[in-house]
Amino acid sequence: MSNELKICCAGMCSKPTKTRDKYCSMHRARLSRHGRLDKETYIETIFKKSKLMPNGCIEWQGYKNKLGYGRRRFNGEKQLVHRMVYMLIHGGNPIPFGLLVCHTCDNPSCINPAHLFLGTQADNRQDCINKNRQRAASGEKHWASKLTEVQARRIKSSPLLSDILAKTYGVTVETVYNIKKGRTWKHL
Ligand SMILES: [Zn+2]
Ligand SMILES: [Zn+2]
Repeated sequence: MSNELKICCAGMCSKPTKTRDKYCSMHRARLSRHGRLDKETYIETIFKKSKLMPNGCIEWQGYKNKLGYGRRRFNGEKQLVHRMVYMLIHGGNPIPFGLLVCHTCDNPSCINPAHLFLGTQADNRQDCINKNRQRAASGEKHWASKLTEVQARRIKSSPLLSDILAKTYGVTVETVYNIKKGRTWKHL
């Protein structure tokens, strides 16, 4: 009796278990990790690794790209997290080619479905232009500003070519020109 083979009790699983365990090691791990035998869904994982902010944004806490967008593997491919969330929340249909998942909150790491909308490149640009006009203020509070004051100061005083500076700091050449000409970050 002692070498009787035990089989995992979870659904279609037929993996052997250790004599006294009801489940195989994988199912046991799932039970202890999230209290269920089925696999945690992508959305569940994403939300678990995100944080609700006081302003209502749900910020992804994992890996982010240079622009601040969350990135994570999905079905073996690196994907932008907010796009995957949008897709999965809306029935899992792929995002139509050429369309962007935009943020009403301008917070690239936000995955709050209520802050995401589908738009064209033009919508996104128009949205940016509108917001730009609304928030004419300069400095770090400016919505489009990804630069810190220290970085802006370095750009302003740097002898390097504008396009090199743009690449170095991950901003557009226009942003660099504007800083150098004193159109933005006027107080530096
Ligand atoms: Zn099992
Ligand atoms: Zn948000």
